[in-house]
Amino acid sequence: MSSNSNPIKLGIVGVGKIVRDQHLPALAKDRDYRLVAAASRHGKVDGIANFPDIEAMLDAVPELEAVSLCMPPQFRYDAARTALEAKKHVFLEKPPGATVSEVEDLKALAAANGVSLFASWHSRYAPAVEAARDFLGSTTIRSAAINWKEDVRRWHPNQDWIWAPGGFGVFDPGINALSIATHILPAMFITSAVLDFPENRAAPIAAHIAFRTSNGLPVAMELDWRQTGPQSWDILAETDNGAMVLSGGGSKLAVDGRVVHDEPEAEYPMLYRRFAEIVRAGVSDVDLAPLQHVADAFMLGRRNMVEAFFD
Ligand code: NAP
Repeated sequence: MSSNSNPIKLGIVGVGKIVRDQHLPALAKDRDYRLVAAASRHGKVDGIANFPDIEAMLDAVPELEAVSLCMPPQFRYDAARTALEAKKHVFLEKPPGATVSEVEDLKALAAANGVSLFASWHSRYAPAVEAARDFLGSTTIRSAAINWKEDVRRWHPNQDWIWAPGGFGVFDPGINALSIATHILPAMFITSAVLDFPENRAAPIAAHIAFRTSNGLPVAMELDWRQTGPQSWDILAETDNGAMVLSGGGSKLAVDGRVVHDEPEAEYPMLYRRFAEIVRAGVSDVDLAPLQHVADAFMLGRRNMVEAFFD
């Protein structure tokens, strides 16, 4: 498939915040794709065919080659299965599913149907992530810390699904941190975790996690959704070549206070470039390491009840 002259015919499913904020602007500029249809119970995309669900969209637009599934993770598996069985390539928003095993199942289904599955991790495409990976790969790491602290009322107002089972709570942003950490740090695993659950919610509002790497390095992770004022999305590392700070969700890299990388972000254009690449190569890209850590935190974590949360 050549770019431009033969764009991938794409359908988008679950038209909500992330579709409007990122997918539509990225696709509008991307000549590798032609967005031809959308499926959503309420949301609509102007200028293309809209359908109430993925089945209706696939029936009416058989020439679709790929779909992006952007509904919350609890509601994604059936749509992904339907698309893969219809031999469409599938782009999964993060997190790729509500359980590790359902995504493993989709990976096998994609292979069986000869199509590509992409478990997208947008934060991995933040501008300074590769530079941080190169820096850490060139030195000896002594310890690392992940601090992801934001105001849930500001970033996720009235998103009930995020507080429901399978919605991940504070791990919805926290998994972005893990998608970077698992790309730039040595392999690690959780040794202890405390998850703070509001007494009226089924998902945590904060988490305090200790990891160690296989060679014994400590990695501490603090997630908190009650952060008002300055927000922090930082990964820090003490190394033999200085103190590294990857801040702004992977957008800016500093070593010993000196900024070494700071570029504008282009996460979604890069995600779509990667999706086109795997479609053309006839492969899948499904790294479940970030999702596995979240599953492990829920498996190993002690539950601590905290005050009720109201939007
Ligand atoms: P959202 O706006 O709350 O949901 C997206 C759309 O999914 C909704 O508009 C809704 O469309 C559909 N939906 C909701 N509940 C559904 C259900 N029970 N069954 C089927 N469809 C349902 O959420 P979002 O913020 O866009 O997030 C969606 C995904 O993108 C999440 O996995 C999130 O982690 C990820 N993401 C979000 C952001 C962000 O900044 N918001 C950033 C990166 C990634 P209809 O009602 O029209 O069906």
